Amino acid sequence: MGKVDRKYCEALDQQDDLAFLRKEFYLAEGVINMDGNSLGALPRKTMARLSNVMEKEWGQGLIRSWADAGWFEAPVRIGNKIAKLIGAGKGEVLVADSTSVNLFKALSAAVRLNQGRPIILSDDSNFPTDLYMMQGLASFCGDSLKVKVVRPEQILNALSDEVAVLSLTQVDFKSARIKNMELITKKAHEKGVLVVWDLSHSVGSIEVDLNGAAVDFAVGCGYKFLNGGPGAPAFIFTAYRHQSAAEPILSGWMGHQDPFAFSLDYRPAPGIERFRCGTPGVLGMAALEIGVDLFEKTKMSELRKKSVRLSRLFIELMEQECGDYGFRLYSPLNDKERAGHVAFGHDEGLGIYRAIKARQIISDFRPPNVLRFGITPMYQCYQDIFEVVRAIREVMETRAWDKPEYKIRGAIT
Ligand SMILES: *Cc1c(COP(=O)(O)O)cnc(C)c1O
Repeated sequence: MGKVDRKYCEALDQQDDLAFLRKEFYLAEGVINMDGNSLGALPRKTMARLSNVMEKEWGQGLIRSWADAGWFEAPVRIGNKIAKLIGAGKGEVLVADSTSVNLFKALSAAVRLNQGRPIILSDDSNFPTDLYMMQGLASFCGDSLKVKVVRPEQILNALSDEVAVLSLTQVDFKSARIKNMELITKKAHEKGVLVVWDLSHSVGSIEVDLNGAAVDFAVGCGYKFLNGGPGAPAFIFTAYRHQSAAEPILSGWMGHQDPFAFSLDYRPAPGIERFRCGTPGVLGMAALEIGVDLFEKTKMSELRKKSVRLSRLFIELMEQECGDYGFRLYSPLNDKERAGHVAFGHDEGLGIYRAIKARQIISDFRPPNVLRFGITPMYQCYQDIFEVVRAIREVMETRAWDKPEYKIRGAIT
């Protein structure tokens, strides 16, 4: 490839079949969101929708809206829409709670299904909350359950008939490396191990085929690539074949067979609805649904293609413009192994992250030295990538990262 310049990126934008989607988002002037893998951008329709939910459905409809405005069905209705993005069937996905809580529900149900086996297996590249939830469940179960954490390359060897559940995140939150879900699930099943996959960094970013891989349980996040808004509700997937046997340990009234009978004994609802716990947050659901509906305007395969092109352009431009400044690509170079962000290691990563933030480029930093840049084909254009690399180069040339106040890690990055 010859030298990439702004004109080249402009031409890519002109030929982009997905460019029309950018107009669906409220994008603040002069700000580039390179952190859509942590918090997606705001869809324009969300603002109007939330005002409508508040004024009409809540303000005027009051409690009648649980039936009249479809509030009660929202967790299943939106779940069915998410199902199409992850290779799940109708009635296999429910929107509810946070990812952490859903992981607990999935893990506890899976452990019950595989009773007598004392281990939950995971790896040390997993997102911390996933490991913490496993630790909490194990400590509650006392001596009968332990968490075993191995290195990613040791997973297949660590599978045995002692393992009840293997729980992994499909896309590494630091490197964006994609795990082979199909192969790992198959190997786990050969040993009688149930699998719980966390799709937080997959859903809305890469093509996922849960049923193609015969996955047992999965969970995922609503506020990242689904653009559902800060703290958006998450989702849980339970394969049909497990639904009647899977016992919800968080057995709340909304997951009861007949919640409004107010019976004193818990009896779980027949299908995925048994994984409801308490009353869903309607405003959050409404915002998430707008984000999810945007995926109807195109295909996941088209979004993935553009995502790969954007990230490849980013990697090539970083090499061209910043090749001498000590950045090490921390994500896989192979497009097939890399999901929806590009990460670079740099010894001055924290200062660089802060200096580009001062230039209105939103990215993030993961200790000790990883800079992450989210790739979101719905609202990013190729010229955004050019601007970001140009800013990074300027920060490096002028040593703008080298400020004492940039070196102290804040409580939130
Ligand atoms: C973002 C993320 C979560 C977030 O969990 P919350 O309960 O929503 O805070 C969990 N797991 C993974 C792998 C994530 O990337």
